[in-house]
Amino acid sequence: IDFEHCGFPEALNHNLKEAGYEVPTPIQMQMVPVGLLGRDILASADTGSGKTAAFLLPVILRALLESKTPAALILTPTRELAIQIERQAKELMTGLPRMKTVLLVGGLPLPPQLHRLRQHVKVIIATPGRLLDIIKQNAVDLCGIKIVVVDEADTMLKMGFQQQVLDVLENVPQDCQTILVSATIPTSIEQLAGQLLHNPVRIVT
Ligand code: AMP
Repeated sequence: IDFEHCGFPEALNHNLKEAGYEVPTPIQMQMVPVGLLGRDILASADTGSGKTAAFLLPVILRALLESKTPAALILTPTRELAIQIERQAKELMTGLPRMKTVLLVGGLPLPPQLHRLRQHVKVIIATPGRLLDIIKQNAVDLCGIKIVVVDEADTMLKMGFQQQVLDVLENVPQDCQTILVSATIPTSIEQLAGQLLHNPVRIVT
């Protein structure tokens, strides 16, 4: 199995090849088809598994179909992780039409982020606290969001971000697709999944 026969747009196939992603990793093999079906997902996957591309591919393919912006939201606990996700997203989105990203993260000045947000960005990559600030300022409209990723959910809980994540997701449409990724799935993550996911497919690697 490889990415070439998945029916992806030509530019995406090209970008996967350029990035050296010839063969999908186990998490990608499981998550990409289920993600493309539009199902909610609870996945246990650690750094190094290829989990970022595993959720980025469904995000990108979904966002490509949408004309309304923003269409996709990726929540991650730290600025550093957000920067890494955006780097991979940009790598995979090269040459795809109308696929701008924005980083909405703490520890960096807010005005440039708000400026970028106004330029029809398709994919938001955010930390929960900064995004909540922006929501409270009425500076973002999340009504067009079709797909949400909560990355490193166990780290989110450890850092005390549970309520912020829930508050952010109050602002996205009820029926949007949600993917929750966590290194481990303790009871606390099961409970969060129960609150956020509808009939999820469970993926273990
Ligand atoms: P992650 O687990 O998402 O942090 O990814 C770990 C590393 O694996 C990153 O540097 C990715 O660029 C790389 N990677 C992800 N998917 C693949 C793949 N299918 N083939 C080769 N490398 C990959």
